[in-house]
Amino acid sequence: MKLILLGAPGAGKGTQAEILCDRLNIPTISTGNILRAAVKNGTPTGLKAKAFMDAGKLVPDEVIIGIISERLQEDDCKNGYILDGVPRTIAQAEAMEKAGITFDAVVSIEISDETIMQRMSGRRVCESCGASYHVVAVPPKQEGVCDRCGGKLVQRKDDAPETVKARLDVYHEETEPLKAFYEKRGLLKTVENQNGVEATTAAILKVLEA
Ligand code: AMP
Repeated sequence: MKLILLGAPGAGKGTQAEILCDRLNIPTISTGNILRAAVKNGTPTGLKAKAFMDAGKLVPDEVIIGIISERLQEDDCKNGYILDGVPRTIAQAEAMEKAGITFDAVVSIEISDETIMQRMSGRRVCESCGASYHVVAVPPKQEGVCDRCGGKLVQRKDDAPETVKARLDVYHEETEPLKAFYEKRGLLKTVENQNGVEATTAAILKVLEA
């Protein structure tokens, strides 16, 4: 299964991707997580990406295309993968198509901007493995500590309200047109955000079976 998860920042792509990759036994590839690790480690890619990320802007397409082509060549991607947060622009989607990267389905998680603004203030992510939590909706077993790896949970710098607003604007302008792009190719499946993580997972699995 080769899957793209589309949706606004905070729609729950990361959380759903983690659950689906366990269920479907395929890796999740999150360009956001790869970039945050690069920033933390001070790599050349990280140095290029940091200012864009802190401002809630998109990192240039060529950086993303380089990251994704390299990652998809790794052995664990042979049986499929879930892309979380990529493609984010038509140019990225076209570059992937040109490189012969194919997909079985593109799932768009639909959620209002108002719900996202409310939700983002409670989001926490693991500094070490990138797993995401929410102080109310998906709390860790122990406050501030990642269930998966024991890493420290922190608030993302780009989850500040002004930056979330900027990221939503970028989503509507640059990423949302991907829905029409994949609809034309017969791949788009839309899922309404449900009340609760499990209900949203169930809705995604249902459209994938259909
Ligand atoms: P995310 O964790 O997916 O919300 O990504 C966090 C930030 O990383 C975004 O706001 C962008 O600055 C950058 N980023 C992640 N994925 C991409 C992508 N596919 N294209 C451009 N920038 C990206």
